[in-house]
Amino acid sequence: MEKIRVVVSGAYGRMGREVMKAVTAQEDLSLVGAVDKAGVGTDVSALTGVGGTEVVISSNLTETLQKTKPDVVVDFTTPLVVKENIKAILEAGVNGVIGTTGLTEENLAEMAALTDQAGKGLLIAPNFAIGAVLMMRFAKEAAKYLPEAEIIELHHDRKIDAPSGTAMKTAEMIKNGRAQALTPKPAPLEKVKGARGGDYSSVHIHSVRLPGLVAHQEVIFGGIGQTLTIKHDSLDRTSFMPGVLLAIRKIIKMKGLIYGLENLMD
Ligand code: NAP
Repeated sequence: MEKIRVVVSGAYGRMGREVMKAVTAQEDLSLVGAVDKAGVGTDVSALTGVGGTEVVISSNLTETLQKTKPDVVVDFTTPLVVKENIKAILEAGVNGVIGTTGLTEENLAEMAALTDQAGKGLLIAPNFAIGAVLMMRFAKEAAKYLPEAEIIELHHDRKIDAPSGTAMKTAEMIKNGRAQALTPKPAPLEKVKGARGGDYSSVHIHSVRLPGLVAHQEVIFGGIGQTLTIKHDSLDRTSFMPGVLLAIRKIIKMKGLIYGLENLMD
């Protein structure tokens, strides 16, 4: 059996390390390269504590792709560089699995056009945890009957972007799930700027950043005399790995931009 060749971009980061551990443990996958701005020259086996690979972290994505000829690149870097990384991946004729958040709708349209030109598959998923995907699906369903909702998303204090990609996608799904558009309410008198959160797709989103958290989200729906809360917690970064592995295995057989892990799930 020929193994699927994988390069991890953002390899020295928290998610990158977890992805390398998960990939190394799979019989059908082979970690052939690791790229990061930080930790260049680090031996991946020593970094992850998992043997079975001789990969060392290098600094240049394009050069690594030329040298290792992977089937898929998994990218968990930063919102500041993800667009450039996607371009490099597609220019090299490689499929991509992108977990880095912070891409706007405009960015997604641009990436869709580039993916079509390259004739490759690109999955961009704001959340790889299966439970989070279900939370979003249930939120869309609830919005049909309870259209008024607010989102509280909570993450570790080193997360760069706010609100989270998951919160924005959930808000879009709530908007799409409503039977009709909400009637706008008068602007609140905010005594502290931002107290009502940010309005995206007519859903207020509140972002909490604290040490000790990983990735959590509550979607609260309010109706007459009742509320409904849908809550998901990623307690550990391993929660994202089954979704990442599923995406690696599926994206090599697909073409075009796919946004959201739910589109790869049966
Ligand atoms: P992190 O620990 O800061 O890791 C990001 C790594 O990427 C860092 O080592 C960073 O180096 C490196 N990097 C920066 N520029 C680079 C470049 N040009 N090429 C290669 N590597 C580069 O962050 P994290 O917690 O792993 O999260 C990474 C991203 O994934 C974030 O956008 C986060 O929101 C997202 N995320 C998504 C999911 C999901 O399910 N989709 C789940 C968790 C996290 P420096 O530290 O030197 O900048």
